Amino acid sequence: MATRAITCPFCALACDDLGAAEAGVDTRGCAKAAAGFARDAGRTEHRVRGKPVPLADAVAAAAALLSQARLPLITGAGADLAGIRALIALADRAGAVIDPWQSMVLRRNFAVTQESGALTATFGEVANRADAILLLGGDPAPDYPRVFERLVDNGTPLFRSTPPSLAYLGPAAAAPRRTMAAAIHLDSNRLLDGVAALHAALAGRLPRDADIAGVPAAAFVELGERLSAAHYGAILWDVRNLADDGKAVVATVLRILRHLNRRTRAVGLPLAGSDNALGFVQALLWQTGWPAQVSLAGGAPEHDPWRFDAARLIAAGEIDALLWVAGLSHSPPPATMAPTVALLAPDIALTGEAAVEIRVGVPGLDHPGTLVRADAVVALPLDAVRKTALPSVAAVAQAIVESLGARA
Ligand code: SF4
Repeated sequence: MATRAITCPFCALACDDLGAAEAGVDTRGCAKAAAGFARDAGRTEHRVRGKPVPLADAVAAAAALLSQARLPLITGAGADLAGIRALIALADRAGAVIDPWQSMVLRRNFAVTQESGALTATFGEVANRADAILLLGGDPAPDYPRVFERLVDNGTPLFRSTPPSLAYLGPAAAAPRRTMAAAIHLDSNRLLDGVAALHAALAGRLPRDADIAGVPAAAFVELGERLSAAHYGAILWDVRNLADDGKAVVATVLRILRHLNRRTRAVGLPLAGSDNALGFVQALLWQTGWPAQVSLAGGAPEHDPWRFDAARLIAAGEIDALLWVAGLSHSPPPATMAPTVALLAPDIALTGEAAVEIRVGVPGLDHPGTLVRADAVVALPLDAVRKTALPSVAAVAQAIVESLGARA
């Protein structure tokens, strides 16, 4: 059988140059993809209160549980776009809160976009144009293994003649294992001071004798000159490497980019949204007008970043039913007193017992689908590379909606 090109679903880079053939998947040397495509398919039984049941019985039990709840929550990580759209329809029917898991981390990026806009770019633009790249907060490669190959080491760039110079601002222990033209080491809880100093240096307002967390002002001035001299600079960060003040860091980066764009071109490229969390955010935005933390309990979408944050709702014990989705991630449901319906990929072990356990296929491995890439400009089609009888998240969510019937 000929090799066909497939897209990898196992991080938000969504590399679309992998090859699937009879002999297996060529993952282009990516260990994370190799582990993903080798995921175990062993757990296929659906269960209600621990007892194996046919899928239809598990769906009926899930519908009964959700219909009795006063404040159900739908959250988790890992479904293709069709699955997420079906989950939104289910939230609408069940009067549930729906929120991507760890949306407060994603919020560090999108809250700034909501309030102040963004200066961003596609992967292709950075790979073909950037002649200076500042990496912020830590090495993105552990989460995005081919990030340097895709964005920095492009052997045939269209609009630059030499590889981009790399600079780093962040903790020494998390520094990328690459040769850097410049590096400023700061603890992650001082990163905001670092980007603020860089902004001040660019604006000519940083005192020459200033000391920022042990780093002399001259280092920030030199970094600012490096970015100012670039034809196309890019600041790149993995949102998970930012601390709790990440939103302020991202807002300051936007100010730096605005300053640089007075004289040259510079963009920010936030990396976030593996397990199609960005697809979750985008689909919510299209369908409800809000990117996360949405309640459909009142018949119309309501957004509140604090009240409808999934992690807070669970920790505070405010929900009385949880529908947890993990079709892509390896995450079992979080601990909660609320009865749980768990839609789980076949390799996820439950630590306790869920009220209802429904096994689902992994998009891009067990069934086709669509996934949003980290630069949020393209939704890529996923293929199936192994045969399974497991349903998709979309099929299960639609079946629960049908079982619930029309909303009163
Ligand atoms: S970098 Fe990410 S998307 Fe690309 S092959 Fe590796 S795991 Fe898959």
